[in-house]
Amino acid sequence: MAVPKRKVSPSRRGMRRSHDSLKVEAFHECSNCGELKRPHNLCSHCGHYNGREVVAVGL
Ligand SMILES: [Zn+2]
Repeated sequence: MAVPKRKVSPSRRGMRRSHDSLKVEAFHECSNCGELKRPHNLCSHCGHYNGREVVAVGL
């Protein structure tokens, strides 16, 4: 529900925004090359996932 801006105190506004902060994204080391990658995602550096090469990376 819309509330006039001046009716919301700085304290209340801060309480509402306490959940708005950005979180650090999850990262894990690749078991093949040690590069950082997103969990459950193909390694963008060496193309490995779950211990085998899924995508050939041209070097
Ligand atoms: Zn890798």
